[in-house]
Amino acid sequence: QRESRGGVVHTLLEAALERVSAAEDELGRLDSVAGDGDHGQGIVRGLRAAVRAADSTGSHPDDARSVGDALLAAGTALADAAGGASGALYGALLSQTGAGLRAHRGRVDTAALAEAVRGACSAVAELGGASSGDKTLLDALEPFRDALVEQAESGTALAEALTSSARVASKAAEGTAELTSARGRASRLGGRDRGTPDPGATSLALLLEAAAAAVAD
Ligand code: ADP
Ligand code: MG
Ligand code: MG
Repeated sequence: QRESRGGVVHTLLEAALERVSAAEDELGRLDSVAGDGDHGQGIVRGLRAAVRAADSTGSHPDDARSVGDALLAAGTALADAAGGASGALYGALLSQTGAGLRAHRGRVDTAALAEAVRGACSAVAELGGASSGDKTLLDALEPFRDALVEQAESGTALAEALTSSARVASKAAEGTAELTSARGRASRLGGRDRGTPDPGATSLALLLEAAAAAVAD
């Protein structure tokens, strides 16, 4: 049992866990349309482990390195605990965002976060080998990244940038309902998943909305 130190990453992940837990059954239902129905359980298990890992790594927004360290630890724990495709991808998203922030001196601002998310997005795309429009969590992550980069360029403060970018991710996740999955067994469904949003894109949007709301608090 390690000492609890909490910090900003812990607070954000707790908010995300709460939001995603409330949707656990719904996420499982979405995943059962084109997948194996385990996304709700997997992501909740992963986020619980991420919260625990972040709790033993203090982090403060004035110190990007501490936030990066906490995200790295959380991502590693998430990937280990969640398993599955999305566990590895979600883990890489948190870890690589952390790695990007670790390299930044000073506080976490919109530009630093946008740069870190840009790197993490590339890592997730490379690891999963999916392209835009394949109906995966990338279809929420890439619009989120683009929105965040735009906010950074226009000098928007972090809380506001995160809130509006998370809203973009939610709209994009809803929009995945119009897509047909190009992956695995879903690709043999002959488009039966049309009308149902991608579970990974949906959970990612919930996570981002919850984290943005917690930052704005
Ligand atoms: P599993 O498919 O191993 O059961 P989950 O059910 O937890 O894992 O997660 C499914 C979600 O993972 C999908 O909805 C999709 O968003 C995401 N996903 C799966 N494979 C990929 C991939 N190659 N690239 C990007 N995202 C992916
Ligand atoms: Mg699944
Ligand atoms: Mg599975």
